[in-house]
Amino acid sequence: MEQIDWKNLSFGYRRTDYNVRCYYRDGKWGEIELCSEETIPLHMAATCLHYGQEAFEGLKAYRCPDGKVRVFRADENAARLQSTCQGIMMPEIPTEMFIEMVEKVVRLNERFIPPYESGATLYIRPLLIGTTAQVGVHPSEEYLFLIFVTPVGPYFKGGFACNDYVIIREYDRSAPLGTGIYKVGGNYAASLRANKMAHDLGYACEFYLDAKEKKYIDECGAANFFGIKDNTYVTPESTSILPSVTNKSLMQLAEDLGMKVERRQIPVEELSTFEEAGACGTAAVISPINKIDDLEEKKSYVIAKDGKPGPVSAKLYQKLINIQYGIEEDVHGWTRVVID
Ligand SMILES: *Cc1c(COP(=O)(O)O)cnc(C)c1O
Repeated sequence: MEQIDWKNLSFGYRRTDYNVRCYYRDGKWGEIELCSEETIPLHMAATCLHYGQEAFEGLKAYRCPDGKVRVFRADENAARLQSTCQGIMMPEIPTEMFIEMVEKVVRLNERFIPPYESGATLYIRPLLIGTTAQVGVHPSEEYLFLIFVTPVGPYFKGGFACNDYVIIREYDRSAPLGTGIYKVGGNYAASLRANKMAHDLGYACEFYLDAKEKKYIDECGAANFFGIKDNTYVTPESTSILPSVTNKSLMQLAEDLGMKVERRQIPVEELSTFEEAGACGTAAVISPINKIDDLEEKKSYVIAKDGKPGPVSAKLYQKLINIQYGIEEDVHGWTRVVID
């Protein structure tokens, strides 16, 4: 058995022992199957390949200091996948089946769950694809739902740090009434050019405005945006952003801390008024924002003081991490012990 260097894991794919699969045929889901193959047999005319009938999810399992392994808000990922299924005409995966498969795949790959001290976690990737061979554009009749896991390193190797973003107006990742609210691969394909442009310019990530008016903040790459000012947590309301489970959790924690929470349109210029801002998602929890450059408008919104994360972001980050690792009491019942 190979030794894994837990301290030097990156965010990438690494083979584990098993994945779990379930096929949808004749209008119903079949039995859950264990599989040690990394590839999938797929017809070249499958709808996922031609018409983008593909959706995914992302969550993590945490090896906690008390020795237990916990999964964070898997029911929320199940609900979001159900919404995505409605969005691109795929059969829904019942929450119980989703959770059963998450628990199975984590337990089967226990030896790949990084130790607590490493800061690494087990990333869980559910994937749903349309598999029927078709040439006409209509929904597939058969589907494959699978979940694989892979150990991933901590997002912040040198600790919680700030990043620079750049507003990109040349490309949109999603349309106002398009698929931005669903976790589908097509949105990611649409984001690749903007992402490359941002990287080439030396930024951590691209920053999107609403596609229609280019007036309001949408998302920071593949993460939700939040800003902090006057003891208020402000996050965009938009029909083209992905409802992040992390953002939803942070809104609750902000409220628990006695802050006000506002979900509303955020005009770009309002960026100059935030005391702190961050990008949030499962990968980093919070990635604090140093500054956001608007090259076309020749403006730079510097948010962080001395390039350092603000106290509210740090507090929210710590609180959420502590719940995920079973260190702080889970008053909202967000975690599920998968291995006791
Ligand atoms: C997955 C994703 C997020 C983050 O969602 P979490 O549930 O917090 O991980 C944000 N934006 C986009 C576009 C995403 O795909």
